[in-house]
Amino acid sequence: MFDRIFKIFSRDIGIDLGTANTLVYVQGRGIVINEPSIVAINKKTDQVLSVGAEAKKMIGRTPGHIVAIRPLIEGVISDFEITEQMLRYFFNKVHKDTYTFMVRPRTVIGIPSGVTEVERRAVEDAAKNAGAREVYLVEEPMAAAIGARLPISEAAGNMIVDIGGGTTDIAVISLGGIVASRNLRIAGDKMNDDIVQYARDEFQILIGERTAEEIKILIGSVSPLPEKLTAAIKGRDLISGLPKEVIITDAEVSEAIAPSVNAIISEIKDVVEETPPELVADLMTRGIYLAGGGSLLRGLPEMVQKSTGIPTRLAEDPLTAVVRGCGIILEDVESLKEILVGS
Ligand code: ADP
Ligand code: MG
Repeated sequence: MFDRIFKIFSRDIGIDLGTANTLVYVQGRGIVINEPSIVAINKKTDQVLSVGAEAKKMIGRTPGHIVAIRPLIEGVISDFEITEQMLRYFFNKVHKDTYTFMVRPRTVIGIPSGVTEVERRAVEDAAKNAGAREVYLVEEPMAAAIGARLPISEAAGNMIVDIGGGTTDIAVISLGGIVASRNLRIAGDKMNDDIVQYARDEFQILIGERTAEEIKILIGSVSPLPEKLTAAIKGRDLISGLPKEVIITDAEVSEAIAPSVNAIISEIKDVVEETPPELVADLMTRGIYLAGGGSLLRGLPEMVQKSTGIPTRLAEDPLTAVVRGCGIILEDVESLKEILVGS
């Protein structure tokens, strides 16, 4: 009864609480928030200065007492209170232009597969403290598969690989359940680190994480491209300590990130090997779907296809697959209960 009244006034929301980006979907309105999962804090006063895109601009540019924190580094809540503050900020932002009445929304939140019970609780509590009425959790690969419109309830194998910032989730899904899966802490962030390291070793130049990410997105690929791409990187010369600019090529970037890319590919192969034969046969016809920002790396689908022998393609709009999946679940929480975590 109360639930029905709530339903009239509240619009339920779906959240992709990603290590790199947080996306919020509001029923009837679509994706209303898509911002980096970053919070800038004044350490002296513990005050939150900014959240999301504003806070990201501050990374590596803050004076001593201001820190830009990524509360979900490595896919789990490493800083509970800050995650809660971040969620509250996003809830309020949605609230301001969505609700006329103060009603706490029902929420579906995507969490990485393989998080512990304690970590799950942490997400649930953070969302409740931030203003959610009911919280349903779904494993991110499941949400991504639903967002990619894979027929996950059928008795057939579907494979999804979600390469995010902190974690890569690999899962084979059949009959609404995860049959084989891996979660590894090598994804987009690690590739940024690889590039920072490469610039230091090869060019004796110190660059920031953000610069490395820009280069990765601009010219990054899994193997040298037929037509060479280059980018200028600006940083500090390790020897003179002065500013320096060097030109880096796509071939050099692919060399820098190769160990991370190979680790992801080898894990995908392991999951295929663990998958029961009938389901592998399904994968041969249905293919592997890639989601998450990391899947946008040039040449990745082709490389996965070549190393597994299974047709591989990008999910539609890979960066929003998880949150769109959460949105689809919202529409029908009752009949999709089975796929939710620990409800
Ligand atoms: P999460 O789910 O962990 O928040 P996302 O799915 O939002 O992560 O993906 C973020 C990651 O994708 C970042 O590491 C970012 O650098 C990377 N990324 C985004 N666009 C591209 C691109 N075009 N090429 C390569 N990597 C990309
Ligand atoms: Mg994600």
